[in-house]
Amino acid sequence: MTIALYGIPVGGGIALGRAHLLPQSMRDIPHYELSTKEERNNEIKRFKNAIKNTRRQLEQINKNLPTKSPTELGVFIQLHLMLLLDDSISSDPIDIIKEENVNAEWALHLQSQKLSAQFETIEDEYLRERKADILQVIERVFKNLRGDSMDFSSIQVDLFDDTILIASDFSPADAISFKDARIAAFLTDSGGPSSHTAILGRSLDIPSIVALHHALEVIHENEWVIVDGIDGVVIIDPDQRILEEYQKRAREYKAKKRTLNKLRNTSAITQDGVEIEILANIETVDDITLANKNMADGVGLFRSEFLFLNRDTPPDENEQYQYYSKILKKAAGKPVIMRTADLGADKALRKAESSIVINPALSLTGVRFSLAEPLMFRTQLRALLRAGVHGNISIMFPMIASIAEIKQCLSHLQIAKEQLIERNEVFAENVPIGIMVETPAAALMVGSLMKQVDFISVGTNDLIQYTLATDRNDETVAYLYQPTHPAVLKLLVHIIRTATRLHKPVSVCGEIAGNPNLTRMLLAIGLRRFSMHPSNILAVKEMILSSNITSLESKIIPLLRNEDDERAREILDKLNQREESI
Ligand code: PEP
Ligand code: MG
Repeated sequence: MTIALYGIPVGGGIALGRAHLLPQSMRDIPHYELSTKEERNNEIKRFKNAIKNTRRQLEQINKNLPTKSPTELGVFIQLHLMLLLDDSISSDPIDIIKEENVNAEWALHLQSQKLSAQFETIEDEYLRERKADILQVIERVFKNLRGDSMDFSSIQVDLFDDTILIASDFSPADAISFKDARIAAFLTDSGGPSSHTAILGRSLDIPSIVALHHALEVIHENEWVIVDGIDGVVIIDPDQRILEEYQKRAREYKAKKRTLNKLRNTSAITQDGVEIEILANIETVDDITLANKNMADGVGLFRSEFLFLNRDTPPDENEQYQYYSKILKKAAGKPVIMRTADLGADKALRKAESSIVINPALSLTGVRFSLAEPLMFRTQLRALLRAGVHGNISIMFPMIASIAEIKQCLSHLQIAKEQLIERNEVFAENVPIGIMVETPAAALMVGSLMKQVDFISVGTNDLIQYTLATDRNDETVAYLYQPTHPAVLKLLVHIIRTATRLHKPVSVCGEIAGNPNLTRMLLAIGLRRFSMHPSNILAVKEMILSSNITSLESKIIPLLRNEDDERAREILDKLNQREESI
């Protein structure tokens, strides 16, 4: 029987192949029983060594803290040392090893579950939040138990051209073992669009889907599977009709890709000679490879928060400096707009935080988070300013809703500069500063906000969600999330026209900029700077090459006058009808 599963597509294309399951979760905690006293003693010794190593590492970090680092940092590490030496972490797991005859990792895991449960019941919010500290300490002990790394050894399987690899998740080390092999596709049950696995999928350029949740349960070894990495659909045991349909789609996809690849070295100029800037949205330094390959004019949005996610503690100034410098060097002189950490909401620094907040998208998110954590904010600003000497940097603040927020950001920037001067550090002094326009408040007041800064970028992903009161991550209201809704369009027109009148550079860096179906609409309302995922560049460029702005400007009038959201699609289709050819 044919079954379909849905996940998050991360690598394009369509593949047909045979399933190969890797049922062992890469993050599974080893669990085995001990049968002799000697085994128990060995486990206890291993555990004590891990505690000793963790202690040594924490003491080392504490000792080597730079003199100018925030005082909180030292306090934080001392707190971790104190927690480590508390019986609940350094001694109770030994009792579990003895009493339950289990290995050290499993004993630590049981103790971690017990402590987590105890913390859940604490009413005092401050104390409840210390749970995160305990888990961070346990995580460190865990890594030491495993020998410094959570990564497991390479995947020991035979891989073929038609292998569809399916796992709970892959660690980067595992992924290396199939990076050079030719496999048809890979699927994982966990992972988000920005997980390492997803990044790997994009860089391997093979069909891949993450967050399928049930692939390992539902798919059987050696079963025929279709992977549609464009729409994020997996079809298990397809019948002949479905198979033929997907074979046709796969051929069309490949043909389209070949055509688009020919556009790599062509400039994005409309038929009536208007030059359009195409920038890339990146989340990691690796994303620049594809941006460069597809000849992006620079980076229109670096989502710096990805450096802060999935880790115990925020990156320090040096780590950030190194990372931002790497990006700037790889961009080789092309402009790079670095957005300060857009944390909170769906990108909570600590996973537990997103579930505590009732309405995360309206809570401490974007620039509000940075302003609430001034030491972290200034650390990032210092790192950005220092990295700025290695390339063409601009700094941008996310989720701005008022002039007061911009002023606060600018004064933190000023303090960051003064701190660097005091430290005799070299840094870029005249960095262009911009804001993201992604709240209706910012959109409506864009003229005044814009006067405070050098450029703006429209974050339509959030602007649409806030304008239409529709959670961008909630499938149940996805039908209401309409980029062509008249209200959204009115705001976009207002923003772009105001920026043009004030001679301030304006780009759109939300997903709509990378959607070729919306390219003409954006060109017609005056957008000349698009920023998108590097994989969308060629399709958008193809649309630009076939467009004539003069004729689009009259054709867009019915769409601008339209207030009926149901008609918007139909009018847009007319705008997209191809009368010009490349
Ligand atoms: C946006 O909101 O459009 C945007 C580009 O920012 P993010 O998707 O990172 O929220
Ligand atoms: Mg946003």
